[in-house]
Amino acid sequence: MHPLTNEIGKFIPSDRIRVTRYDPLVRTPFFRSVQVPDEIRNLESFTIIQTASADEISKVLKLANIRKLPVYVRQGMGVISPDVTRPEPPGSLILDLSKMHWINPNFDRHHVEVGPAVSEWDLNKALHPEGYGYPELIGPVTWCGSLVSLNSSGRSVDPYIGKPRNYVLGMEVVLPTGEIVETGSESLRRVCGFDLGQLVIGGQCMFGVITNLRLQLLKSPKDICGALVHFDSLASLGKAVSSIYKNHAPYPQVLEILNRSYLEAMEFEGKISEAVLMMATDGWAPGEAQWKQEQLIKHMQSEGCIDVEIQSSEDWAKLLLFREAGLSKLSPKGLVMLTGEVMDYPIDKLSIVLPAMRKLQLELMETYPGIDTYIIGHIGAGSFHPTVVAPVEWGYRKLHEVVKDCRKKILAFKLEHGATIGEQGIFPEHIGWYQGTYDDVHWKSMQLVKGALDPNGILNPIRYSHMQEANALP
Ligand SMILES: Cc1cc2nc3c(=O)[nH]c(=O)nc-3n(C[C@H](O)[C@H](O)[C@H](O)COP(=O)(O)OP(=O)(O)OC[C@H]3O[C@@H](n4cnc5c(N)ncnc54)[C@H](O)[C@@H]3O)c2cc1C
Repeated sequence: MHPLTNEIGKFIPSDRIRVTRYDPLVRTPFFRSVQVPDEIRNLESFTIIQTASADEISKVLKLANIRKLPVYVRQGMGVISPDVTRPEPPGSLILDLSKMHWINPNFDRHHVEVGPAVSEWDLNKALHPEGYGYPELIGPVTWCGSLVSLNSSGRSVDPYIGKPRNYVLGMEVVLPTGEIVETGSESLRRVCGFDLGQLVIGGQCMFGVITNLRLQLLKSPKDICGALVHFDSLASLGKAVSSIYKNHAPYPQVLEILNRSYLEAMEFEGKISEAVLMMATDGWAPGEAQWKQEQLIKHMQSEGCIDVEIQSSEDWAKLLLFREAGLSKLSPKGLVMLTGEVMDYPIDKLSIVLPAMRKLQLELMETYPGIDTYIIGHIGAGSFHPTVVAPVEWGYRKLHEVVKDCRKKILAFKLEHGATIGEQGIFPEHIGWYQGTYDDVHWKSMQLVKGALDPNGILNPIRYSHMQEANALP
């Protein structure tokens, strides 16, 4: 039993406290079928506390400070790879915020207040009938609390859509010491100057737990126009995307890359070429989305695309589902995704880094016969995922070793070509990149800020400590 369970039991009912076996992997569809050896599964169990309010979280954190015991907030990220084990070590106390689910729009003030457990999908479903909605940031199942805590995005094109930070007007936050604070404002005019909330946004739960979010409402676009754009090489696709910005072409709302190996492995039923763009534009005025699409198609044609297929709205919806469900075809084939690392490049480098990455992937396939590799991702902002899949029958330890080596080589590539990290969070998943990119001064400054707000280092400590151990098996 966790040393805090009895005291927490005095203010949280027992049906909201549970103990679960340790598992180094987050059981998303990717890793559902991977068998973890018993000697790992038998490590100390997790204690999960379902907290329903800022007050309850405050009480737990105050107790944890008295006893100097760490507290984690429900977190995934294990989906990135089996060599990045769960951020919570065995025996952890984890707060599960799933009960904190409310959606309170205030149309007069043009904002909506949401609980941290509201998913992107829930929020859009509630707002669409009123003509509001957010572009997809990470994906339907991601919660607003974690979305803002990571300040991450996915399929959305950053120069157009921005990051979650751009939509946050204010928050309620429980600081690591248990005090409850309000940040930001009720106004549509964002706070100028120092704003404590900006540390929490993207802070990966190191500086506080978000217990309420005030988001600016966004009007849903009236039209969305989709198309598939085909290229005969990754290099020519990269060149066409690079010059969208320089040539003043309209911003796409969605611009995803899918390479041939991915489309073939996922049994895509339409036309397949070396490199394909899924491209969508949106608009509010009549004809606006279509005009943007025409401009972008002219741009792609002048850059040498080999074919364009305009999609009806039904076909575009099917394509989005295909992209969303994407890797679900792996499991029936006995394959598991090992890593979908994130590469975010300066936009003018795409025509070089895309083919160079494919070359590296083919080398990995020679080193480890049985793996397969794809390139997919959010290329509109220079982002893509070199994806590696392997037979699940290899078992946890071999999968772990193979992915560790693949990620090492991918990291070297990433640093060599100057990639940044625009999604999936930094700590501890991308420690190698962080250490290779920034100096010690950067790191020490961050630790000083953490120490000031969390003097006992109890909130999500893996996010800032034990850097060298983060990728080690427990
Ligand atoms: C199919 C799929 C596609 C994905 N695509 C993308 C992508 O395009 N871009 C991308 O960035 N990632 C992507 N991911 C990874 C994704 O970011 C992680 O799985 C993420 O952890 C999902 O969020 P979650 O709601 O499960 O949050 P959690 O895993 O619960 O939390 C994530 C982080 O936020 C913190 N946190 C959670 N709630 C709060 C809170 N209330 N206050 C403060 N901190 C909090 C946690 O401590 C943790 O550090 C993808 C994952 C999957 C399965």
